[in-house]
Amino acid sequence: MNAKPLSPIGIARPDILRVDAYDHAAWDPTLERLHANELPWRSSEDVSEAGLNRYPEPQPRDLVEQLARLYEQPASNVLVTRGSDEAIDLLTRAFCRAGVDQVLICPPTFGMYAVAARIQGAGVLRVPLDAARGFHYDLPAVLAKCAPTVKLVYVCSPNNPTGNLIPEETIVRLTEALTGRALVVVDEAYIEFAGVPSSARLLPRHPWLVVLRTLSKAYGLAGARCGTVLAHADVIALLRRIVEPYNLAQLSVEAVLRALRPKNRAITDERVALIQRERAVLTAALCRSSAVIRVWPSAANFLLVEFTSPQVAFDRACAAGLLVRDVRRHPDLARALRITVGTPEQNRRLISALCMGET
Ligand code: PMP
Repeated sequence: MNAKPLSPIGIARPDILRVDAYDHAAWDPTLERLHANELPWRSSEDVSEAGLNRYPEPQPRDLVEQLARLYEQPASNVLVTRGSDEAIDLLTRAFCRAGVDQVLICPPTFGMYAVAARIQGAGVLRVPLDAARGFHYDLPAVLAKCAPTVKLVYVCSPNNPTGNLIPEETIVRLTEALTGRALVVVDEAYIEFAGVPSSARLLPRHPWLVVLRTLSKAYGLAGARCGTVLAHADVIALLRRIVEPYNLAQLSVEAVLRALRPKNRAITDERVALIQRERAVLTAALCRSSAVIRVWPSAANFLLVEFTSPQVAFDRACAAGLLVRDVRRHPDLARALRITVGTPEQNRRLISALCMGET
């Protein structure tokens, strides 16, 4: 018997389901605005198209439609957020009851999942990735740990800081097992560098899946703060009610719309291809160095590198004017640094600094 899958908002915080959305000023660009207590004049040197004296359009329709097209989803499955960070925060607040519910993460992974949970008063369960098997996702261990109070299960793919992809088959099996119990949140911040399809294509058949995308990485818009939640329309409708009405700054909205024009998207594609080539160059050079124990295979725009002496490597990079990320506090990464793939010139400078004295 095939029961109709439950709507995922059945596991949202009951009090959140009862919250009324803020009744923001009506959005009608055809009328002059004397209803939002704004100033009628622009501030001096305001370079925006719309005027920063005006509140921005909540969930701007044009932007939602462009992102829906970019990610090949209906607009009803799209929420635009101030970076993925806001998306993680909203999901945590919507689904986790303080002192009762939990999120599940697989460390080493992106830090904000646990931070958002703590701020909300939710617990954090950890099932480490299996370092001995290339940071393999331990599906049986995750499922064994998923008590009924676990509401969000994060899958970071490619994972930060290890760089590996979690296979789509694992995501499907995880989501199927958790349907009716917990949302599976796949964070695809780096997916453009992986050259594989997004898990968002699974959404029509897997309503308990949530996919997070961002323009911070491949699109070069980290400073604009623009992320997207792709999820079942009920989840999006719930998040729309609790997201701040003016969460996206007008200057960011305009910058994003420009970046999504076809000619600029073509430049993005070329840059992603360049980063992929440079990732291979950097990997090969570092693998040849006696200072390097190993370079983990990466599907992202960074490399996790294990050094014989990470402090020496860190200091040499700094001396060459390059900051790399020290990730040694995680037990499985005791000798590792995370290195972002830069321009060809930066990568060569890094290679000569790290492989100093080697021919
Ligand atoms: N997810 C992952 C895996 C990340 O590494 C980062 C940023 N480092 C984010 C999300 C946050 O991205 P955003 O800039 O969209 O908030």
